[in-house]
Amino acid sequence: MSEECLFCKIVAGEIPSDRVWEDDDVVAFRDISPQAPVHVLVIPKRHLASLDETAEGDAQLLGRLLGSCRSIAEQEGIAGAYRVVNNCGAAAGQSVFHIHLHVLGGRSLGWPPG
Ligand code: AMP
Repeated sequence: MSEECLFCKIVAGEIPSDRVWEDDDVVAFRDISPQAPVHVLVIPKRHLASLDETAEGDAQLLGRLLGSCRSIAEQEGIAGAYRVVNNCGAAAGQSVFHIHLHVLGGRSLGWPPG
């Protein structure tokens, strides 16, 4: 855990969140500022600042994050019509430096994104 990290505090339950999923390695909760009717953040319990900070040894964890997105999409009723996004780095829009996948759905999603 990183003591200054917002999402580590959410994992620890020190900051409240609307959790929709949890297993041994992964937690998912609703985004506080949703950009779509369904907007869930999927994070590892272990602190990793961004995708750039992952290594070969994190492949299984990354797979579990993506697999959790699939399960959450099914649970949320958006299977077959959702987007998974990772913003890596401030220039790409990352504002919280604990790796997370956004699961967005429940409305029509345009492409390319902004
Ligand atoms: P990003 O900009 O890709 O780093 O995404 C960070 C996301 O975290 C944003 O969509 C924020 O709305 C969301 N967020 C920030 N604080 C909280 C919080 N306390 N609970 C839930 N979502 C949050």
